[in-house]
Amino acid sequence: MTIKLLLLLLFLSFQTIGLFAQECTVNTRFDGKKIIRSEEAWKKSLTSDQFYILREAGTEPPFDNAYNDNKEAGTYVCGACALPLFSSQTKYDSGTGWPSYWEPICPENVILREKGHRIFFYKRTEVFCSRCESHLGHLFDDGPPPTGKRYCINSLAMKFIPDKSE
Ligand SMILES: [Zn+2]
Repeated sequence: MTIKLLLLLLFLSFQTIGLFAQECTVNTRFDGKKIIRSEEAWKKSLTSDQFYILREAGTEPPFDNAYNDNKEAGTYVCGACALPLFSSQTKYDSGTGWPSYWEPICPENVILREKGHRIFFYKRTEVFCSRCESHLGHLFDDGPPPTGKRYCINSLAMKFIPDKSE
């Protein structure tokens, strides 16, 4: 075994770790254990802006938010419970002013619920965190390939964790 080969192996294993951080693995997949807290408890652990988005299903202003323009490699986790939600590899510029993704990290990590509007007779699909059931944003059918989906997510509902390899 030469030093060159060792270095190559080391490099490859780092590459693999870097890739796996972005993918659905045992470490990123929701394990089914919910976090249930009272709204009072959430109020204490979140800022008032985060609480408005995550627990009261609010929407932050377009463009004027933390992650719309973020192009760094990394993982977006739930702002309330830190469950991995989206990878930078599926983020794209939708032009809407909110961070947009064509797929969650693992399908199990988000809950989708259809919500009808009583007055306007339209349906919207709300996106929630599977672990703490906090509101994240909405799902639309006008996304890019390969899924055609647009997960339109509030920056305030997430926290960005940059890749360690960078
Ligand atoms: Zn959560």
